[in-house]
Amino acid sequence: MTTQAVKIEWMKAPVRPGSGPGQPARPRSAAAQEMAERLAGGILDRATLHRILATTDADELEVIRHAAEQTLLQHCGDTVRLRGLIEFSNRCVLDCHYCGIRRSNKAVDRYALELDEIVETAQWCAQKGYGSIVLQSGERRDAKFVQLVTDAIQAIKAGTRTPELPDGVGITLCVGEQSPETYARWYEAGAHRYLLRMESSLPSLFAALHPPEQSYASRVACLRSLKDIGYQVGTGVMIGLPGQSLDDLVDDVLFFQELGVDMIGMGPYIPHEQAVLPGNPAILDVDTRLQLSLKMIAATRLLLRDVNIAATTALQALSETGREQGLRYGANVIMPQVTPPRVRRMYTLYDGKPCLDDNAEQCATCLEGRIHSVGRRVLRNGWGDSAHYLKRNAV
Ligand code: SAH
Repeated sequence: MTTQAVKIEWMKAPVRPGSGPGQPARPRSAAAQEMAERLAGGILDRATLHRILATTDADELEVIRHAAEQTLLQHCGDTVRLRGLIEFSNRCVLDCHYCGIRRSNKAVDRYALELDEIVETAQWCAQKGYGSIVLQSGERRDAKFVQLVTDAIQAIKAGTRTPELPDGVGITLCVGEQSPETYARWYEAGAHRYLLRMESSLPSLFAALHPPEQSYASRVACLRSLKDIGYQVGTGVMIGLPGQSLDDLVDDVLFFQELGVDMIGMGPYIPHEQAVLPGNPAILDVDTRLQLSLKMIAATRLLLRDVNIAATTALQALSETGREQGLRYGANVIMPQVTPPRVRRMYTLYDGKPCLDDNAEQCATCLEGRIHSVGRRVLRNGWGDSAHYLKRNAV
């Protein structure tokens, strides 16, 4: 049983729905009361995590949300950290069943940005005070690709130095499974965070989502190798996958803890027309997937406390306010879209991807408003590293 003996002051006076100024206080539901007691006692065992994911009781949900938000404020502060997302190529050698840019999707035009354009995009981010970028692409392992990423990292580091950011922007890579040598090379070139999602920590579900040549064991080995090299390591899962139970999601959260990751990027599974899962299974409705994703953010925040958690774009694909809700449930990272608009449509991992037509400037203004609307501040000109990472390295 995982228990955490933290004294949780804020549980004494949670904000209750229907108990604002001028409104008569009304008692919380029995479920909410019990959840408040469990969380105040630091009880975050399997049963509690399962209950967090299962609840549909509005009062109980608010207790959970509020506790997650307070845990975030206590362990990571109130700033939202921005990572300009550069989707620099949709060429991919893999064939993940769920993904819109999978190799076998012949309906998508393929592109790769030139080095100059990648660097200019990163410089725009630096000028905006974003502090960090994510380089994301489909997966390739050939020498030319490894070289392009190496060159991009070096050029971005050299080209984004400012008085506020003397070492240039922080770089997170999200380019899939690579050899330890490649990971080490990119680390030496200057990347210091790496995001590689497990997609599901349940081996049988992982196998159902990928062709046989992609293995669960190799993905776990990559995560371990990234950690050994010294990266801040992130992982995550898709939520609301066909065949995925609440118990599986509890296992995912416990898996994050066991692996000791620094960052989490997870979001709802969203179907793509040209990437239908084998057997064309039924999919949970939008609202259920959205709620489940928010509850996963809260559960992860409550258990792991000091990791960075992204409010992913996929949340916004399901609801206009999805990312803000993610922040309210304990997320503290947002990845503003900065991919040049002319190629953005070609990087469609799932249907209904938002922000397809807004330019980076519009995305910046829009996001800032969204962040302020939930009472949070934007971190400017800082890498915004994970507090968990900083702690595990402070010996
Ligand atoms: N090739 C890189 C990054 C590209 S995809 C890699 O594999 O790491 C980035 C993430 O998008 C994936 O990890 C996956 O979780 C998510 N994604 C892909 N297709 C999706 C879908 N249909 N619904 C929701 N998320 C999806």
